[in-house]
Amino acid sequence: MNRKFIGVDIGGTTIKIGIFTNDGELIDKWEIATDKSDSGSRIPADIWQSIEHKITEHMITLSTIGGIGVGAPGFIDAKTGKILIGVNIGWRDFELGNVLHELSGLPVYVDNDANIAAIGENWKGSGDLVEDLIVVTLGTGVGAGIVANGHIISGTNGMAGEIGHITVEKDGGVPCNCGRSGCLETVTSATGIARQATEAVKAGEDTTLMERYQMNKKLTAKDVFDSANEGDIVSQAIINHVTDVLGYTLANVATVINPSKIIIGGGVSKAGEHLLGPLRTAFKKYALPRINEGCEFEIAALGNDAGIYGGAYLVKQTIG
Ligand SMILES: [Zn+2]
Repeated sequence: MNRKFIGVDIGGTTIKIGIFTNDGELIDKWEIATDKSDSGSRIPADIWQSIEHKITEHMITLSTIGGIGVGAPGFIDAKTGKILIGVNIGWRDFELGNVLHELSGLPVYVDNDANIAAIGENWKGSGDLVEDLIVVTLGTGVGAGIVANGHIISGTNGMAGEIGHITVEKDGGVPCNCGRSGCLETVTSATGIARQATEAVKAGEDTTLMERYQMNKKLTAKDVFDSANEGDIVSQAIINHVTDVLGYTLANVATVINPSKIIIGGGVSKAGEHLLGPLRTAFKKYALPRINEGCEFEIAALGNDAGIYGGAYLVKQTIG
């Protein structure tokens, strides 16, 4: 079958677009700038113009394209393709799906970017199309997508699977971007890890993080993993705390969907086994034994391309 799918991943700075074969082979991928002027109203036309240009270049006829799948940041009504609130872009009640459908004449499906990245990872990354999956992205924030019984979970108003905002500190937690305090994101994101390292240095703890701080005037999550690998006790304690909190949160979430895989992506996942090792230990400590036995941890494989793969797979899965 020479059917093609188009995946689009809309970010605050760039929009990534990819054309895929029916089997998920990438034919071409490229990026365009995100034009946020006029509340992002030009974005659908920019996307379509760029796709039209590329399909002409590749001599792909429109009738062979099954549709366009789009991941966008914010709260989305996946049934209608409407962006209720588009974080970073300025969209409010924006009919992204309908507008892109009118421009292209193709079926268009839209979902939250973290959800789309999760199904992309499941299709062609570390997932192997499992039926029950949790994907967590540890970056500036903590994003997540949950697949249960083979389908992404969106919820009644697009909030399902927002694991980053599970409360992990009831009292005295650090303020979160969502307006509350003590969310998972404040502890286990790259930002949260760097903050704990900076606090340790400022509290005068005996740590090699001090030298890194003095050299670069700031600390990153990578500094903490590097120092821990060199034997720094304070850095090891931060990683133990982060993986303990993430491990018990994931053990609790896993009790709801009993996943066969948990995939960890984002910048922090570059630590690989140094992250997964203690995370598995914590998960085992807090999860029901049968849930732990059924669940493997893996590092995400597709990096920044997970969104375009997921967009394409959303179309394939929806139209069958
Ligand atoms: Zn929060």
